Amino acid sequence: MSDLFDKIVSLSKRRGFIFQSSEIYGGLAATYDYGPLGVELKRNVTQRWWNSMVYQHHNVSGLDAAIMMHPTTWKASGHVDAFNDPLIDDKTSKKRYRADQLIEEYVERLRRKGKEEKADAVYERLVEALNADDMAGALYALIMEEEIRSPDSGVFDWTEVRQFNLMFDTHVGPVSNGENKIYLRPETAQGIFVNFHNVRETGRHQVPFGIAQIGKAFRNEIVARQFIFRMREFEQMEMQYFVKPGTQMEAFESWREKRMQWHIDNGVRPSKLRWHEHEKLAHYADAAFDIQYEFPIGWQEIEGIHSRTDFDLKAHQEHSGKKMEYFDPQTNEKYLPYVVETSAGLDRTVLTLLCEAYREEELDGDTRTLMKFHPKLAPITVALFPLVKKDGMPEIAHSIEEGLKEHFNAFYDEKGAIGRRYRRMDEVGTPFCITVDGESLEDQSVTIRDRDTMNQDRIPIDNVRTYLFDKIAGWKAE
Ligand code: ATP
Repeated sequence: MSDLFDKIVSLSKRRGFIFQSSEIYGGLAATYDYGPLGVELKRNVTQRWWNSMVYQHHNVSGLDAAIMMHPTTWKASGHVDAFNDPLIDDKTSKKRYRADQLIEEYVERLRRKGKEEKADAVYERLVEALNADDMAGALYALIMEEEIRSPDSGVFDWTEVRQFNLMFDTHVGPVSNGENKIYLRPETAQGIFVNFHNVRETGRHQVPFGIAQIGKAFRNEIVARQFIFRMREFEQMEMQYFVKPGTQMEAFESWREKRMQWHIDNGVRPSKLRWHEHEKLAHYADAAFDIQYEFPIGWQEIEGIHSRTDFDLKAHQEHSGKKMEYFDPQTNEKYLPYVVETSAGLDRTVLTLLCEAYREEELDGDTRTLMKFHPKLAPITVALFPLVKKDGMPEIAHSIEEGLKEHFNAFYDEKGAIGRRYRRMDEVGTPFCITVDGESLEDQSVTIRDRDTMNQDRIPIDNVRTYLFDKIAGWKAE
C-alpha cells in the first residue's frame, strides 16, 4: 500500500473514524467498525444520497428490505450459478489471488515500464479470457504463458484457477440440512426487484419510477487487503429505475450524469473522477459504466451504473410463477419494464472522502494535517472553545453550542492551548472553530476560524448561524 494510504488508515484509527473489527481478538480480516467520527461521516453521506435520490425525485420511493431472502431469489438472479470469482493460490506463500486482478496488475506494471504495446496485447487477451466459456482455463493459460509471478513472494508456483462462489450461506431454524440453506444477500438490488409490485402499488407509481435502498451486503471476497475498499460486509446505496423497454438508454444517460454530479457535489475534485466502460458485460446488462476515483492505490470503482434490461423481473417471474409485468394505463400495453441501476458503495464513498480530504501543509516549520471535508459532510461542523475556563467564557460558549445543535453537529472543548485545539479539529476536518474570549463578554461577538484558510472573522453572536449557513453554501473543493 502507498505511504499516503497508510497515513489515511492510521489517522482513521487514531481519530476514531474506523477501527478493525474485533480488534482485541486480533481482528477479523476485511471487516471494519465505524467509530464516533466515522459513523457521523457515513450518516452524512447516506443522508445526502437519500435526499438526492428520494426527496429530489417525486417518482422514486425508498425501501428497506431484509438481508435474508427466500433462497430461490438467488437462483433466479443468477448468483447461485454465476456469482463466482476466478481464484488462484500461490503454493509457496499460500496466499490467494483473483486471477483476473493478477493479470490486470501485470498489465499495469507493463504500462509503468513503458511497454504499452505488450500491455495492450495482454489486456486484449484478458478480455477474451473473461468472455471465454472456460474462463478459469483461459485465465490460467494466460498466467502460464506470461509467467506472471506472485506479487508477494515473487515466485511462479501457482495452483489451477478455480471458480469460487462469493455468497455467504447459513441455515434457518435449528436443523442444518441442505433444504433450509439461505444466503446473506450479496447485493441489495434483489430486495428491490421482488418488491416491484408492492412499492409500485402502494406508492401509486407509473413507469418510469425508481426504488432506492441503503443496506448491508455480504461477499466472501477472495482478496480483501485494501482497508474499507474491499470488505466482506459492506453497505450499498442502490436505486433501480424501471422504464419502458426501448427508453432505457435515455434513462441510463440521465442517471449517469446525475450520479457523477453527486460525487462532485460531495466535494470530490472532478479531475479525480473518471468513467470506465465495462469491456465484459455481466450476463444481465446491455450497458455498464463505472465511476472511478483515483485512490492512492490507483483508479478504482466506487459506483456502477448498469442498464440491466428486463433480466431480473423476467427471472423472478419465471421462478416465482407470479406476473411481474406492468400494465401501462396510457397505452393499454403490458410489458416487463427494463431497469437502470445506480449502485454505489457507501464504504467506498467514505474512503473516497477520506482520501480526498487528507492534506498536509507546511506551517512554521511544522506539518499541519487537515481533513478538507465538504462542510456539509464533515463529522463535526463547528467546535466551540472558551479561550480560558473561567470569567463566564464557558457559559457563553455553551449557550452558542445550544443554539447551533439543532442544525449542526457542534462540539465543545475547553481543554489545552487554543492552537492545539485548532489542530485537533483540523485533523478531524471540522470546518469552523468558534472562540469565546474576554471581549466576547463585553461586545457579544466571537472569533470564527476557517479550517482551510485559517483566517479568523469577528462576528456578533447573533449572526453566527447565518454566517455558518452562508459559508457552507459557498464552499468549493480545491
Ligand atoms: P469490484 O469489481 O470492485 O469487486 P463490483 O463490480 O463487483 O466491484 P458491484 O457488484 O457493481 O461491484 O457493486 C456495486 C458497488 O458496491 C461497487 O461499486 C462498490 O462501491 C461496492 N462494493 C462491491 N463490493 C464491495 C466490497 N467487497 N467492499 C466494499 N464495497 C463493495
